[in-house]
Amino acid sequence: MNQKISRRGFLGSLLAAGVVGAGALTGCAPRSIEDEKSAVVLDGGEYDIVVVGSGGAGMAATVNAVDGGAKVCLLEKMPVAGGNTCFAEGGMNACCTRFQKEAGIKDSVDLMCADTFEGGHGKGDKDLIRHMCENSNGAIEWLDSMGITLSKLGTSGGASVVRIHRPETGEAVGKYIVKGMSEQCRQRGVSAVCNTAVKELIMEDGKIAGVKATNPQGLDIVYKCKAVIVATGGFGANSEMLAKYRPELLDAVTTNQPGAQGDGIVFCEAVGADLTDIGEIQTHPIVEQTTGTLLSENIRGDGAILVNKKGLRFGDELRTRDVVSYAEWDQPGKFAWAVFDQSVHDNNLSIEEKFVARNIIQIADNFKDLAKKMDVPVDAFVKTVTSYNDNIKNNVPDPMGRTHSLNPLVKPPYYAVKVAPGVHHTMGGLHVNTKNEVIGTDGNPIPGLFAAGEVTGGTHGGNRLGGNAVCDINVNGLSASNTALEYLGISK
Ligand code: ADP
Repeated sequence: MNQKISRRGFLGSLLAAGVVGAGALTGCAPRSIEDEKSAVVLDGGEYDIVVVGSGGAGMAATVNAVDGGAKVCLLEKMPVAGGNTCFAEGGMNACCTRFQKEAGIKDSVDLMCADTFEGGHGKGDKDLIRHMCENSNGAIEWLDSMGITLSKLGTSGGASVVRIHRPETGEAVGKYIVKGMSEQCRQRGVSAVCNTAVKELIMEDGKIAGVKATNPQGLDIVYKCKAVIVATGGFGANSEMLAKYRPELLDAVTTNQPGAQGDGIVFCEAVGADLTDIGEIQTHPIVEQTTGTLLSENIRGDGAILVNKKGLRFGDELRTRDVVSYAEWDQPGKFAWAVFDQSVHDNNLSIEEKFVARNIIQIADNFKDLAKKMDVPVDAFVKTVTSYNDNIKNNVPDPMGRTHSLNPLVKPPYYAVKVAPGVHHTMGGLHVNTKNEVIGTDGNPIPGLFAAGEVTGGTHGGNRLGGNAVCDINVNGLSASNTALEYLGISK
């Protein structure tokens, strides 16, 4: 229903709420509600740090900054907190952890750095990579100290050793972390201020002095602060930006939540921030296309195989996401079926929650019936799966070169999800250093401006490994807030 609000009534209600800025009452010419709105500036209060974006990076930064003694405000433009982090399925890569040691896995910072650099096609910034890998174990312990325990280990594409850490329950990692971190924020008296989108950074004498946002009523609101931590995520849901940097991705589905519009990149650029690797955009190869639902990285890691329309495998399923995406686009119909058995299902709660519940999965008690449901040639498909299983049983090297997670598909029922690539992660973004200071186009840090998570560029180079986003947000959320505390002269 359209509600008519008189100018007097509108201003009256704002005055009653004590929110009208000085500019609102100037001038006598009749003006529209929109004019009145733009003349009104609400006062959001004064803080040490404003954190923009309540995904994993923003929440890690908030919790750590509050623990360090700062007065923090956490702003979120969507109606709910959590961002894309909510949808992270796989786990968190980390090296030299207690959990790896207990399982007898030998890992090292150097090896994780080498995997990350190689996985990113040799394009990642080596200092940023080392910063992430060196601090990964610390982040695992920090989470664990708050009861957010990632102790279940698994394999993920591009990792030389078992390095991905997941919740013991089989829950998707993102949901688990967002739930835990929201509770940690709440316990510290900070909840995300939702429906509040930051539009602009306020600078005074070349330093951060606040942010201007739009509140749920569309009114401008200013939050004063000495430091801003930008944690606004990527731009994977902004088709204009995607097409600008990678025109071939215009029609691809996205796994991103609608808030992933690249706002932080835009408002930081407006104050002179430099960008890096901005055209590096990752597609994820196993996305159900009618819903944009991501089939967890763990499904491949736990043993799923990929077959094409002809019922044939077409490569090592555990190659990096970009390589597998391109391989799928080369198949007839440009799609594949991810096929797995009940053991994989049992390990991943999200299969029931996201696929079975929405009827976007085929299920059968034997390979023949599954092939019929998939509409692939029955004989070819049955031969593909049985020879895959036989090779594993007989210790014959996989003809497709797969060396990890060679788990035969032997426990019925069997499952198949039709998948193709979808836009998943934007590797490029704000240029930051290892202290998470945002670097300006003049090469110097912008005083008071820090950034963490997917909004930044540099760490993942040309391709992000599964498990490294969750590592990135936690390590860098912590690091950005530590540097902000240092900048403010508040020492932990
Ligand atoms: P990361 O993984 O880097 O933490 P996420 O995508 O999980 O990134 O979270 C980023 C959050 O930032 C999302 O919840 C998104 O809605 C929010 N966000 C994006 N732009 C703005 C903005 N202009 N103002 C406030 N919040 C924003």
